[in-house]
Formats: sequence, C-alpha cells, structure tokens
Amino acid sequence: MTQPPGAPPSATGEFLHDFLLARVSRGPDSPAVVEPGPPGSATVTTYAGLGDRVARYAGELDALELELGSRVLLEAEATADSVALLLACSRAGLTFVPVSPETPRDRLLTLIGTARPALHLQPENGRREDLPAGVGTARFGPAGVTVERRPDPVRRRRRAPSVTDPAYIIFTSGTTGRPKGVVMSHRAVVAFYRGMLAHDIARPGDRIASTSPLQFDFSLLNIGLALGSGAAVVPVPQALVRWPRHFLRVLRDTGATQVNGVPSIWRQVLRHEPDRLAELDHLRGVLFCGEEFPLPELRQLQRLRPGMRVVNCYGATESMACSFEDVPDPLPDGTERLSIGVAHPGAEMVLVDESGRVVDRPGTPGEIHLRSPALFSGYWDDPEATRAALVPDPLCPQSGQLVLRTGDVAVQGEKGEFYFCGRTDSQVQINGNRVELGEVERRLLEFPGATAAAALPLPEPGGGSRLAAFVVVAAGEDRPRPDELRDFCALTLPAYMVPGEIRLLDTLPTTTNGKVDRAALAASAAAPAPAAPGPDPTPGTAAAPRRGER
Ligand code: ADP
Repeated sequence: MTQPPGAPPSATGEFLHDFLLARVSRGPDSPAVVEPGPPGSATVTTYAGLGDRVARYAGELDALELELGSRVLLEAEATADSVALLLACSRAGLTFVPVSPETPRDRLLTLIGTARPALHLQPENGRREDLPAGVGTARFGPAGVTVERRPDPVRRRRRAPSVTDPAYIIFTSGTTGRPKGVVMSHRAVVAFYRGMLAHDIARPGDRIASTSPLQFDFSLLNIGLALGSGAAVVPVPQALVRWPRHFLRVLRDTGATQVNGVPSIWRQVLRHEPDRLAELDHLRGVLFCGEEFPLPELRQLQRLRPGMRVVNCYGATESMACSFEDVPDPLPDGTERLSIGVAHPGAEMVLVDESGRVVDRPGTPGEIHLRSPALFSGYWDDPEATRAALVPDPLCPQSGQLVLRTGDVAVQGEKGEFYFCGRTDSQVQINGNRVELGEVERRLLEFPGATAAAALPLPEPGGGSRLAAFVVVAAGEDRPRPDELRDFCALTLPAYMVPGEIRLLDTLPTTTNGKVDRAALAASAAAPAPAAPGPDPTPGTAAAPRRGER
C-alpha cells in the first residue's frame, strides 16, 4: 500500500479523517457502521475494519497521482464503503463531492461542468454510464477501487495538505438556475463537530440511524456525530426510509438508539405504524433538522415514546448546522413555536434588522447572522454569491471578520434563545429539501413558449408542504399539458424540485406594486383546477419526495 499523503495532524490542526478515525485506536472492536441486511440481520463494520478500509482506499486513490484538492464525485448512497471512501478522499488530499445516484443525467453533467472533477466514483453495482471524456471513472467495493478510465495524472503537489483546504463540496439548489456548491474546509467541519459534540447527543455504544442521503450535509453531520462519539452510524437505504414498515424493521434489526432526519420521515410512520413505533424500546433519541417539526406530529411522537430525547437542530449547509436544542418533554400546552436555542460553543447568532442595526430586544425580528469557526469557505466558482453570504461582522465591522448572512428571520426570547420565523428570500423547504423557487421558475421558463412562471409551496393538510407552479405560455403557442411540463422539469431537476401541480394561466396575477401576487396564486391553488386542455394533471397532493428522494 502506498503511504497516504498528509502532514502530521499536529502540524496544522485536524483533518476530517483524523478527527473521525481517532477512535480506531481507542476502541478498535466497537461498531462504527451498522448496515441493515436481509430481514432480521445487520452487518457490523468495526472501527478497526473501517480504518483498514480507509487506508486501503486512500492508498489506491493516492496511486492515481491527482493534484491536491482535485474533486472526486462520489455518486453513492451512504454505506460502510462510501463512508470509508469519503474519509479516504480526505486522507488522500482530495475534495469529495457527494451526489445522489438518482440525479438526472443533465444535472449530473451540469455538476461535472461546474465542479470539473478528476474522478467519478460509484459502487460496483452503480448504473451511471457514458461520462464525458476528461473525467476518470472508477468503481469501489469491498475488494477496493477498480479504475475503469484512468484520470490524467497531474500531481504537482508543491506543499503538504492544510486544514484550510476544502474537505468537501455540497451542491444545493441555487437561484441562478445552477446548483450552488458550498465548499467546506477540514478546519470548519472539525470545528463544527467539536461544537456539536459539546452537546453530548451521543455516547459510545449508541447506534445513530442516518436517514439523509449522502449528498446532503445532514448525513455528514450524522457520520461525525457517531464516529466523533465512539458510536456507530446506521445508514438507512433511501428506498427503505419511504416505507414505514421497512423503516421500522431496519431500526429494529440494527438496534438503532437514535434516529436523525428531517421531520417528514416520521409522517407516514405516525400515520400508519404508531404501535410498531411505540414498541421500539431501544430508541432513546431523535434529532431533526432542516425545517420546523409540525407540532401535532411532534406531540404524537412524544406520546408514543415518552422520555425519548428530541433535539431540534437548526442551521444551513454553509455551516453544516449551528444549534442543538432539546425539545421539552412533553411539549407544554400552548407551545406555538419550538426554540432553536443558541449557537453551539464558539459560535454566535446575531440578529440584524432591515436597516443593518443589531437587534437585541426580545421579540423583535431580525435576520440571523452567524459568527462561527465552522463557516464554509465560499460558494464554488461564485464570488458574487460568496460576497453576498459572507458579510462583515455586524457587531464589529472594523475587525475584518466575516459572518454568514443566513437569510433566516428569527426572534429572541427572554432568556436569549432564538425562534425561527421564516426566510427573507424565496428559499423554501419541501419536506426538508432546500429549494430555491427561482431555480424551479427558471427551468419552467426554458419550456418553449413559456413567458412567465411562478413556483410556490402550498401547505399539505397533514403537515409539510408541496410544490406548485403556475405557467403562462405565449398567445398562439400550443398549451403544453402539465405532465409535459413536469417531465421537462424532471430532465434537469431532482424529483423534490419538480412541482407536483402545475397550472396554466393566461397571465400571472399581480399586486398593486406590480409584483407577482403569490397570495392570490396560493388561494387559487386551494380551489379546484379549472378544466385544462388535454389530460388532467396528476393531483398536486402527489407525495412530494422527502429529502433527497430523486
Ligand atoms: P441543513 O442541511 O442544515 O438542513 P439546508 O442548507 O438544506 O440545511 O437548509 C437550511 C435552511 O433550512 C435554514 O436556512 C433554515 O431556513 C431551514 N432550517 C434548518 N433547520 C431548521 C430548523 N430546525 N427549524 C426551522 N428551519 C430550519
């Protein structure tokens, strides 16, 4: 095996892989990854086993002689192998970019054009083919990495890796119609993990079910929480999260003690399998993130599993997350909104009003500005968006320190705790998936003849929201059917960004100041759809995919 590159961790701080593999020597035989198998079984990879796999993969990646920081597209679900591979990328000085195997081909090509990866990696049974020339391709599995098309060796490593180097890039929805790449350094992600671990959310011996797909940083949070605590991560296959009975079976078979995911993972379970959920005796904790937990569902969860710890985790990809607040058990009567607490140690949330003044009166809304050692480095190849998000510290603009302008509005309570109130822009959460409405609208406007489009979230009767869109086509053009528009969107957008309901209008209603009247559109969407030419749209209530379903 080639000696993996990398400066001694003590030289410049901690790298992602060093931090997460620290337990290999302290508890080599403890479970690190527990994967569900056929019903009634689970496969355990120990810390020692994971460490060996990381070393082998890192050696194989190193032999490719890629330049420091080269991007590696990791198209995979979360498994023991893919966890080992992302740690191996970190160890080999490469930047991993996780993507879903369900990503539409056009979107993957856009990502490749944007991130310019040296290598595309998928599991042995991966189905991606015909990648553009210039990208090396390889497959990975228990036997190691098999190179199919060797990337050009370009090693010119003039220096040792540094903790300020990018560890990974996560692509999220972007307003410009292009996915936005959030670049995180080793230093930032380790600072985040340290802040998170101060909350004592997991212990050695715990088994943390991660329901988030690998391409969202929530799964990296779960991996960090588990491996950083000496616990095991339980990656739940996406196909199983969707089916309540299978989901609960996985939790039972793997002995999961904690389940982490967006609130919508619980909706079907609470509706269809409450008794089976109540019987999961080993389940002691739930951590949710990404959006507010509908309170009736949260109360039901607490009733079914009394005494279970529920943690509300707030934050954004640009800092992985930033606060962890225990939900009172039971939730007091009359609670209208959950506290998101205060930022983790070392970080601070500051509210700023519209005129740029710091707000320090309880109850007065302001936009959350986050000062943190765990901030992203910037958006990949997008200095303008980076400048808009990383702004001078409102508490001391002279210091040169930059903070994250989150776009989230909050108020503070009497004890200094924060309450999330909404967004300042058109970013929404659809079942925990971050969606820029502008990106959906841009795609609809690419449809031949489309002249105007508006997308908006509509509340679902049972909680959560679905995505709807309104489209105007030029007079004289044939009106497309809604399903044609949906298919057109699905060519480039992940499934959770494809509106479940699309209506064709002659014109978009406007407010008195000429803006699209979204309230009027929302009200009209609540009414039955007018007779449309061609086959009727599938009902808008078609289940919007949960986070990462693509
Ligand atoms: P994450 O991966 O941390 O969920 P995303 O970048 O996908 O982050 O989305 C971030 C946005 O999601 C936040 O800016 C905020 O609007 C919303 N959000 C995240 N966590 C919560 C929460 N606990 N409660 C309410 N909204 C949240």
